[in-house]
Amino acid sequence: MKRDVWDAEHRCMKCNSLMRKKEMKIEGMQIRAWECKQCNEIILHTEDAQKMLVFNKLKKGIPVKIGALGEALIMRFPKEIADFYNITKGEEIILKAETSTKLELNTKQSN
Ligand SMILES: [Zn+2]
Repeated sequence: MKRDVWDAEHRCMKCNSLMRKKEMKIEGMQIRAWECKQCNEIILHTEDAQKMLVFNKLKKGIPVKIGALGEALIMRFPKEIADFYNITKGEEIILKAETSTKLELNTKQSN
């Protein structure tokens, strides 16, 4: 069976000490990392570091084009956003007015 990188032993790149797993919560995201007991060096799990990159990009805002499907307007989600928020085809998300120029989108997990 393939061993996940998360369960593998990690040594610190700075001092070569054994690192211990550490789970952090950063802006609501569960982030897996390893921490060195010796020098406090922290390495993030690559998948979770990637998630944080996408999240930071999204926080700045990304342009999304509005298309049309018959009479209705449709919005396309870039794949990385869909993956990040676990949005799949056919799923229902909640649109909520914030101001007259600002709309909020809520996924089911946000409740
Ligand atoms: Zn270290």
